[in-house]
Amino acid sequence: MAMTILASRCADCNLCIDLCPTAAILPPRREGKQRSTAIDPERCTECVGHFAWPRCVSFCRVGGIVTDLASVENRTALLTRWQALTGGGTYCQEFAQGMDAVEELGEPVA
Ligand code: SF4
Ligand code: SF4
Repeated sequence: MAMTILASRCADCNLCIDLCPTAAILPPRREGKQRSTAIDPERCTECVGHFAWPRCVSFCRVGGIVTDLASVENRTALLTRWQALTGGGTYCQEFAQGMDAVEELGEPVA
């Protein structure tokens, strides 16, 4: 896993949760006064196997998702995870929901 959510930037819109093809982004939790969304490192493939770029990063309007340089994996490791999660090509339900969200919102602003 090499993506992480910056709590200081995240606006809790939940968009990335619906867009993640591997359901790696966990629903927000409240920790004291802070509400935070997190990425499960055991499910994030950086979108390898689904898209050519990390989809959550592309759609987050506030730049709230960045590369976690302390947790970098190579493409082979990410592909292996994707195959384990999907069986090598079966999109999960959360992916279908994400596509609905994209149709409503349109493509991301470059
Ligand atoms: S898309 Fe960005 S602002 Fe919205 S929940 Fe995800 S990280 Fe937070
Ligand atoms: S990079 Fe892709 S797999 Fe990882 S959390 Fe973002 S949308 Fe999900």
